[in-house]
Amino acid sequence: MKLLFEGDHGKALCEHCQQVVTTTYVRRNVPFSDGHGEAKDVLVGICDVCETVVAIPAQSTPAIKEARKHQLTPIEARLPAIYLDVLDAAMHVVTKEASVQTRKLFISYYLRELVETKAADRLQRTHYEFSQWFSKQMTCRHLTPSRSMKRLSMKVNSYVADDFIILLEATHMTRTDLLKSVIWHIQEDVIEHRNPVVISDLQRLTRVAM
Ligand SMILES: [Zn+2]
Repeated sequence: MKLLFEGDHGKALCEHCQQVVTTTYVRRNVPFSDGHGEAKDVLVGICDVCETVVAIPAQSTPAIKEARKHQLTPIEARLPAIYLDVLDAAMHVVTKEASVQTRKLFISYYLRELVETKAADRLQRTHYEFSQWFSKQMTCRHLTPSRSMKRLSMKVNSYVADDFIILLEATHMTRTDLLKSVIWHIQEDVIEHRNPVVISDLQRLTRVAM
């Protein structure tokens, strides 16, 4: 991709002149891609004959592209309170600035990570292993399982919602079980193994998302 500067020349087909013309790159106000409003001083190629805009270089495309309006999808579940504690503890390891909003970021990051690594089997296994481990802990510590439940509620963009659906289909788990397993993955990576790659990724993410 060639980076263009003001005053550069090129060639393009001009609809108005109905021929291939020489062009000059200049800054103009260009309408946004959805037709509402315009972007100011964008570098475009104009026809040297009639001055119509005939070329929009790659470097100017983001400026005129109207952001796709993302519909937010709710992901909600009622989980035993211990899961939210585990998630919050992991977030606190990553950053002392962690808040309720950070939960969405962590879960979203992990959904993507798990889709990319095709970790459906691992998710099912983790869920099973944690259930086993948890009942063993209860027995060993002579505790009765708490009935306290908490709601995990977040609104995610379409990419994250798609990742969630991909994992639901791949694992055949319920939404609640899947979220439990995802949280347990976070626990393993962040609290148990202190995985430096994951922790630094999450630190960077929370830093820019704050
Ligand atoms: Zn022209």
